[in-house]
Amino acid sequence: MTPDMKLIDEIKGFLDPEEGMRLYDVACEAAKMGPLLEIGSYCGKSSVYLGSAAKTHNSVLFTIDHHRGSEEQQFGEGYFDPELYDEKEKKVDTFPHLRKTLERAGLEDTVVPMVSTSHVIARVWSTPLSLVFIDGGHTYRAAFNDYSCWARHIMPGGFLVVHDIFKNPDEGGQAPYHVYKLAIASGQFEVLPMTKTLGVLRRYACGEIPSDLPA
Ligand code: MG
Repeated sequence: MTPDMKLIDEIKGFLDPEEGMRLYDVACEAAKMGPLLEIGSYCGKSSVYLGSAAKTHNSVLFTIDHHRGSEEQQFGEGYFDPELYDEKEKKVDTFPHLRKTLERAGLEDTVVPMVSTSHVIARVWSTPLSLVFIDGGHTYRAAFNDYSCWARHIMPGGFLVVHDIFKNPDEGGQAPYHVYKLAIASGQFEVLPMTKTLGVLRRYACGEIPSDLPA
C-alpha cells in the first residue's frame, strides 16, 4: 500500500514529505528481507511511511519511543505542544496519538509499538533487521546509544537511515550527523544519496566489495 498522504498531512511531526517518500522507497526494498525498526515515533508520521512499506511486503515494523517527548518538547520549552500534554499526569504523552495514527492508517496488524528507551529494549534484542531508522533524541548521548545499540542488528544488505543530518552546524544540531559519520567510518556501509536531511546507508552484503577498494 502507498502511504496515505492526506492522513500523513494531519499527523503532527517533523518529517518533510520528500524525506518521507524516500523513507518509504528504501523501506519497500528493505521489507522484502525482514522486519524494520524505527527509533523516535512521536505521533507516527514516519511510522505510516515505514509501516505502509512493511504492509506491502507482509513484513513488520517495530517502533521505539518512550513517548514522553524530547528535551525541547517539555512544558515551557520551545517545541512544547499543549495538545500532547497529559494535564492529569503533568507529563507529555504522545503514545495515544501514535495508536490513533496506526488505527487510522490501518496499520495495527503491521506495526508493533514498544514504549521504552531504546537501550533498554536493545539489552535483549536479537532479531536481525532489514532497516533501522534513527530519529530519536538529538543529544550526542542519545544518538550514539541508538547507533551503537541498533546498527549491529542490521542484516547484510539492510539499511541504516538517519534523520536530521545538518552538515552545517548553523542549520541544526550535530548529533545525528556525528553518528552518520561514525557509521561511514566503520567501513561497513555503502553511502547512498541523501534526501534533504535524510541520510541513507546500506550495509554491504556478504561477499560484496566496495567499488573504491583497491584490487
Ligand atoms: Mg527527526
